[in-house]
This record gives sequence, C-alpha cells and structure tokens, in this order.
Amino acid sequence: MVKESVKHLNPYVPEKTLDDLKKQYGLKKLVRLSANENAFGTSPEVARALDSWHFSDANLYPDSNAEVLRRSIATRFNISEDHLLFGNGLDEVIELLCRVILEPGDEVIDPALTFSEYQLHSQIEGAKIKRVALDDAGYLNLAAIKRQLTPKTKIIWICNPNNPTGTFLEPATIKSFLEAIPDSVTVIVDEAYIDFVNEKNVSVIQLTKQFNNLVVLRTLSKAYGLANFRVGYAVCNPPLMAYLQAARLPYNLSTFAEVAATAAFKDTEFVKRVVNTIAEERIKWNRFLTKQKLPFYESSANFIFFKAGNSDKLHDYLLRNGYLIRNGLKPGWLRITIGRPEDNSAVQKLMAAYFNA
Ligand SMILES: *Cc1c(COP(=O)(O)O)cnc(C)c1O
Repeated sequence: MVKESVKHLNPYVPEKTLDDLKKQYGLKKLVRLSANENAFGTSPEVARALDSWHFSDANLYPDSNAEVLRRSIATRFNISEDHLLFGNGLDEVIELLCRVILEPGDEVIDPALTFSEYQLHSQIEGAKIKRVALDDAGYLNLAAIKRQLTPKTKIIWICNPNNPTGTFLEPATIKSFLEAIPDSVTVIVDEAYIDFVNEKNVSVIQLTKQFNNLVVLRTLSKAYGLANFRVGYAVCNPPLMAYLQAARLPYNLSTFAEVAATAAFKDTEFVKRVVNTIAEERIKWNRFLTKQKLPFYESSANFIFFKAGNSDKLHDYLLRNGYLIRNGLKPGWLRITIGRPEDNSAVQKLMAAYFNA
C-alpha cells in the first residue's frame, strides 16, 4: 500500500495549540517556550502591509516567483535573484532538497543531535542515515563527519547554530570543511538561527559564490517572528537550483505570505532590537544555569539546551506553572526558548524554587 521507507518513520511532533493545553491543565495563562518562536512577535510593519493588501486579489494565484520578496533578499545579500528558492517554510525546502537529491540507498550524514526533519525526509526518500555524534561541548564534529564520507554520500546536513544545542561554527571553519568535500556531495547549511549570533559576518551565504555544492537555508520564522506565515528560502547555484525550481510546487508562497515576509525582512530595526534583547537574556540564562550547577551548551541562538536530572518532572512542574518548554530531545535534557525578560525571570524563579526546595 505504501512505500517501504515510510513504514518506520519518527514523525515530527507538532506543538499542541495553547488553547488545548490550557484546557488540559486548567491554566489561565500559558507561555510557549518550546518551539523557538519569537517571543517579541513580529515587526509592526507586517500588520500595516497586510492591511493594505487587496482582498480582491484573493481569487488569483500568487506570483510563482515571489519577485518582490526575491528582489529585497537578493539585494541585501548581493546575490543573483536566480539563486534564491522560496518554500512554504524552510520545512518545505528541506523536503524538496531530499526529494530532488536522494535515491534509495544513497547515504546522508546527519549530526546527532540536530533538527529532526533532515532525518525524516531523508528516510522518506529511502536514504541510509549515518548519524555522527556531537563533540562533548555540543558542537558538530566536522572531522568525524568527514570520516563517514563514502562514494554513496549525497547530503551532509550542517545546522548552524545547531538546534537544539545552539552551538555555532565560524564561517572559516565551514569553508575549510567545504574545501575537503567532493563536489558530488551537497552540503546543506541551515542558518535558521544565524540572526541571533552576536558577531559580524557569520553567514556562509557568500560562500555559495565559490562552492556549487553548498546550499544555505534561511527562514523568516525565528528572528523575524513570522512562523505562522511559512516563509523559508534556499540560496544555491545552478544546476541544483534549476532542478529544485522544476520540482517545487508552483504556488507554494501565497501573496499574503510574500507581503508579510517582505515587510518583516525590511524592518531590520525590529530584528536588531529582538536580537540584542535575546543576547542580554542569554547571558542571564547562562549565569543562572551556572549558579544552579546545571550543565548546558554554549548557545548562540534564541534557546538553551540544559541538563535537568529528571527532565520529565521539571517539564511538568513548569507546565503546571504556565511555561511550556521542550522535552524529549535527549534523556534528561530540556530546551528552553529565550523569552521576554519577565518570563525568563519568572521561569528562573520557579526553577530556583524547584531545585532548592
Ligand atoms: C525552525 C527550524 C526550521 C523550520 O523553519 P520554518 O521556516 O518555520 O519551516 C528549519 N531548521 C531549523 C534548524 C529550525 O529550527
């Protein structure tokens, strides 16, 4: 009835709605710090742009090329407009890359732990997944990844900063890695959280000008606060770009999503404010976890992954007190999205009471 590869999947578990959870736990207020969403909302420019959208266009198919958004992004990054591909969220781009590149029996190198969708979609295409452990500090182990290369390797997934550890690799490190990888292997660098890195020149987008086997992924869902609108994109060169374009769904971005994304993308002041606040709050989280003697990884993103002993118990305790965080990624560990300052201090207060009771 179905293909063999889909019989043994570990499907992505989407978030329950806040209303459902509130009802289930009898809560008045519940703050979701489990999905790495932007706790500060999105740019006010988004509402303004959508208000002036012509609903009379609702019956028309959207611009298949998302030209307006395409121009904004290509201009900012100084790349060719033809080197951009949009998806209904980065999720769809990840699915498309697997669909276009992988055949049954191909090999994929996937760090453990990392974002689970790489593995899911590689599996659906019948690829064999080679998982390479992170190093002790939670960083991707590029030397170990290199050792797993075989003539069958088709994709290497590099999440940078890595979800869920938050660890960040410098572009120079990724460049040396790319120099050692054969052209036949596509290296996919997922920069979903790159805006949160507190340094300059952290992206490898410019390296796509040099490496034809490099694909860089970005999303509007995190720092731009637009998760509900589902806009992500890939930067890469032909010929891969042409194949991806040929295989994608023609109208995968609604005009509504394109209008929202263009407005959000242009409001760099909003993103700067969010990123600065997150950076300050991250320092406070580091201090708090250090003080509580809870092990954690060095995060450059808007979340922190920490070890909590009985993580089910702490997860449940925080949920009953109105804060949902992410459990189930690694036994004993929890990932918390860095939220608004008042929520971060509230969670820290709850945790201090829990651990020092
Ligand atoms: C959130 C996330 C995505 C998915 O982003 P969408 O654009 O919302 O689909 C992709 N990669 C990583 C690492 C993420 O954490």
